[in-house]
Amino acid sequence: MDVYALPMTTRFRGITTREGLLLHGPAGWGEFCPFTEYDDREAVAWLAAAREAAGQGWPEPVRDRVPVNCTVPAVGPEHAQRIVRASGCTTAKVKVAERGGRPGDDEERVAAVRDALGPAGRIRVDANAAWSADEAVAAIGRLADAAGGLEYAEQPCASVEDLARVRRAVDVPVAADESIRRAEDPLRVVRAEAADVVVLKVAPLGGVRRALRIAGECGLPVVVSSAVESSVGLAAGLALAGALPELHHACGLGTASLLAADVVADPLVPRDGWLPVPRRAPEPVRRGEVAAPADRASWWRARHDRVAALLDRSC
Ligand SMILES: [Mg+2]
Repeated sequence: MDVYALPMTTRFRGITTREGLLLHGPAGWGEFCPFTEYDDREAVAWLAAAREAAGQGWPEPVRDRVPVNCTVPAVGPEHAQRIVRASGCTTAKVKVAERGGRPGDDEERVAAVRDALGPAGRIRVDANAAWSADEAVAAIGRLADAAGGLEYAEQPCASVEDLARVRRAVDVPVAADESIRRAEDPLRVVRAEAADVVVLKVAPLGGVRRALRIAGECGLPVVVSSAVESSVGLAAGLALAGALPELHHACGLGTASLLAADVVADPLVPRDGWLPVPRRAPEPVRRGEVAAPADRASWWRARHDRVAALLDRSC
């Protein structure tokens, strides 16, 4: 078991180094990287996903490449356009409702992104649960006007109840992201009629097969997203996106560039807005160079062993 520590190019969830552990098995490599604040119980699904990749491999894909979105953080309009143009993506996810922003900033940013994408491009906004329901309804209307139409608004509010309230009040589709953290969450969102689109991540749902089953039970369009894994973990997200019977939206799997180093020689960085669907995870040949310091490595091995005991008991 190799423990890695990858410096990040951008602060994400308050961290500047992404850590995790790589497992090897008969089917290849798997990645176990639950965020450090998650408890052992929550990390069980992440280990199940890593074991699936290493031990069993993934189901046959139905497509060989997947469109991904570029992500535009809370930057000024010119910077936003540079990001969109450099990405080659036809879908942009634009962060909105950031703390400290001035009124009108978000509208200016989405209008600039529309200019860069052209009329055929898709713009989704992500508020990361920052709005109240009333704020969301007002803001989504303004942003849809400024953007000349939105693909969807992602997690406008924190609670499932507020998502449902917003969804009833606006014409723009609503996507649930933070509301889905465990395997039982997607169906809760569906029952509450709180979303038109669900954002699914392989690791917290316990693997590609489980995520596929959950997607089927949901019956809603899926956007596969990463948990900012190395390219080993990203490959599992691509395996899910590649195996979904239908894929109507670009996926949030273009996150390799958030890491300043990777465990593989050829990171899964999108070209012209697309990523290939791999049959197995790429070989982590650089894991020696990105090995975590000894104290972190023993922390991860101990965590792995505790979580493995929980997973083995539940099987
Ligand atoms: Mg999101």
